[in-house]
Amino acid sequence: MEQKLAKVTDVAQKSFDFVVVGGGVSGCTIASRLSENPNVSVALLEAGNSHFDDPLVSVPDGWMQQVFDPEYDWVFRTTTQEKVVNNITTPSGGPDKSFFWSRGKGLGGSSALNFLFWTRPQREEIDAVEALGNPGWNWERYFAAAKRAETFLPSPANNFPEFRELYNKDSVGHSGPVPISFCRTVSGAELYFQKALEAHGVKTIDDGLGGSLTGTFKAAANIDPRTGTRSTAATGYIVPALDRPNLKVLTAAYVNRVLTKKEDDDVVATGVEFEHGGNVHVVHAAKEVILCASTVKSPHILELSGIGNRNVLEPLGIPVQVDLPSVGENLQDHLIFTSCVFKMKEEHGFVTSETITLPEVQTKLRSIYGEAAGPLSLACTGVTFLPLHTFSDRADELIEKVEKRIEQNADKLPPGLKEQYEQQLKLLKDKNVPDLEIVVFPVNVHPAGPPKPHIGLLPSIGHPFSRGTIHASSSDPKVQPTIEPNYLAEEIDIDILVESAKFIRKVTQDGPWKDVSEAELIPGANVTTDEQLHEFVKTNVSTTWHSSGTCSLAPKEKGGVVDTHLKVYGTKNIRVADLSILPLLTVVHTQATTYGIAEQAADIIKADHGI
Ligand SMILES: Cc1cc2nc3c(=O)[nH]c(=O)nc-3n(C[C@H](O)[C@H](O)[C@H](O)COP(=O)(O)OP(=O)(O)OC[C@H]3O[C@@H](n4cnc5c(N)ncnc54)[C@H](O)[C@@H]3O)c2cc1C
Repeated sequence: MEQKLAKVTDVAQKSFDFVVVGGGVSGCTIASRLSENPNVSVALLEAGNSHFDDPLVSVPDGWMQQVFDPEYDWVFRTTTQEKVVNNITTPSGGPDKSFFWSRGKGLGGSSALNFLFWTRPQREEIDAVEALGNPGWNWERYFAAAKRAETFLPSPANNFPEFRELYNKDSVGHSGPVPISFCRTVSGAELYFQKALEAHGVKTIDDGLGGSLTGTFKAAANIDPRTGTRSTAATGYIVPALDRPNLKVLTAAYVNRVLTKKEDDDVVATGVEFEHGGNVHVVHAAKEVILCASTVKSPHILELSGIGNRNVLEPLGIPVQVDLPSVGENLQDHLIFTSCVFKMKEEHGFVTSETITLPEVQTKLRSIYGEAAGPLSLACTGVTFLPLHTFSDRADELIEKVEKRIEQNADKLPPGLKEQYEQQLKLLKDKNVPDLEIVVFPVNVHPAGPPKPHIGLLPSIGHPFSRGTIHASSSDPKVQPTIEPNYLAEEIDIDILVESAKFIRKVTQDGPWKDVSEAELIPGANVTTDEQLHEFVKTNVSTTWHSSGTCSLAPKEKGGVVDTHLKVYGTKNIRVADLSILPLLTVVHTQATTYGIAEQAADIIKADHGI
C-alpha cells in the first residue's frame, strides 16, 4: 500500500484544485469525498507517516504504547496551570503542573490513537451551534451527515453479554466508510455500575447515538468486528481511494504556512509551503486550501500565514495579511477527574488492562471468540451522561452563582462569549440535557504492582465555562504554539467536578457496586470533607484530548474565524474544517462529531463549486 502514496515529486510545484492540510479525521474525510469526482484534483498533506499495517495502530488498544511516542503523537504541552495539576496522563504517570496534550501524528490523525469511544452529541448541543448565528448548522443536518461516515456492524460474540449492546438501527449509519461496532471485550464491571446507577434513578438507554443521551449505556467503538482491528479515518476514507489518479496523498509533509496574495480587499490562497525530507517545497492550489490540522495546529498555521490577531503576529515579525483577532481564541477542553479508582473483588474476573495479559484470561477470551478472532483488545465502553440536576442537589444554587458571575462580567467578556454562555446556561438548566460524562475505565491508573482488577469511574465536565487560547510563539513553524487552556478559570467547572465525585461516592457506597468492589483506593478514606475533595480533585485531573473552538464557527463580530461555509473571514478560498470550528464543546467524545463536521464541509464545498 505504501507504494500507492504520492512521492514528493508528484506534489511539489504541482497544482491541485484543492490542497487539504492534515490527514486526520477531517482531512481524510474531505480529501476522499472531494476526489470522488474524477474531474477534481486533490492533494492531501500529512506531517506524520502512513503507519499502514502497524500493529500499534491496527490493534485497538495499541494506543497505550503510541501515546507519548513522537512517531505517533505530537506530545504537545500546555503552559503551567495555576489552578490544577495534571496527574496520571503524564509520561511519568506522576503529577505535573503543565498538561501533556497527545494528538495523533500520521495518516488517520487522532483516530489512529484515540480511546475508541464512538459517541454522538445531544441534539440540543448541536442546535445551540445554530443559535449562535450559524444557520444550517443544526442537529438534523449534522445527524444525517454523521451517519454517512459509519457502517454499524453487530459483533458476533462478546465476553459479557449481560452488559447489553443496545442501539436503534435508525440512529446508526449502514453504508459509510468507517466500520463501528460494540467492542467484544469489556471489563464486566460496567454492568455493576449501570445497576448501581439504576438504583439511583438513572435509566439505561437503548439509543445512545440518536441525539438523546441522558442515561447510561454501552458505547460503540471504532472497531471493525470482522477483523477485530481499529477503524481509522485513513483505513475508512483513504485506503480505498488510493488508486484514484486525481488524489495524491503525501505523508511526512509538514505544512509551514498557507501562501497568499491580495486580490481587492481579500486574501487569496495560492498554495502551501511544506517541508519534506529536510527540503522546503510549494504546492499550488487552483481553487482552495482547506485546513484540517486540528484544534492545535489549524490556528497555528493560520497565524504563521499572517491571519490572526495583529497583536500576536507583529511582535513575532509575521506580516499581517488579515487582522482576525479571534484566531486561536475560545479554546475549550473536557477536564476529567482521573483519580476515582476502585479495587475490585477478584472472584468476579473483571478484565482490565492489567488482567487481560494473564494467560488464563487470554485462554478464556479465545475460547469465546475462536482462534481466528484477531487481536484481543479491551476498550472502554461504559458511559453515562447526566444533567446537573441528576448528580447534584446544589444544581439551582450553582446555576444562580454562574448566572450572577456572567451578569457581573458581561461588559468584560470577549465578543460572542456572552451569547455562548447564554446557550450553556440553557443547557445547564435543561433537566434532559447532560452536563457530565462518567466513564468506566478498566485501564490501570493505579501505581504499578502485580496485576489486580482496578477500575476507574472518571467524571468529566461536558460544557466547560473556562476558555483558553492557542497562539504562535515564534515565526518558526517548527516551534509549537503556546497552549493556554486556563483550566478551572471559572469556578463552576471545579464545582461540577466536585459534585460529580460526590455523586459517584453516593452511588458506589452500597448496592450493586459495593457488592463487587473491595475498596475505593483513591481518593480513599482520608479524603472526606467537601474541602478535601475539592483540593483532591484539583490536583488529579487530565485533559481528555477533546479541545475545540480555536477557529470558531460564528459571525465575525461574535468571535468567529469561519463563516457558515467554513471560509476564513477576510479570505476568498481558505477554509478550516476540523474540530477547531466547533464553537461550543459538546459533552461527548469528539471523533464522531468531527466526522459529521467534515462530511458537512465536503457537501458545502462541492455545492459551492458545483462539483
Ligand atoms: C489520546 C486521544 C484519545 C482520544 N479518545 C477519543 C475517543 O475515545 N473517542 C472520540 O470520539 N474521540 C477521541 N479523541 C478525539 C478525536 O480523536 C479527535 O477529536 C478527532 O480526531 C479530531 O479530528 P481532527 O481532524 O480535528 O484532528 P486530527 O484527527 O488530530 O487530525 C489532524 C491531522 O493534522 C496533521 N497535522 C497537524 N499539523 C500539520 C502540519 N503542520 N502539516 C501537515 N499535517 C499536520 C496531524 O498529524 C493529524 O494527522 C481522542 C484524542 C486523543 C488525542
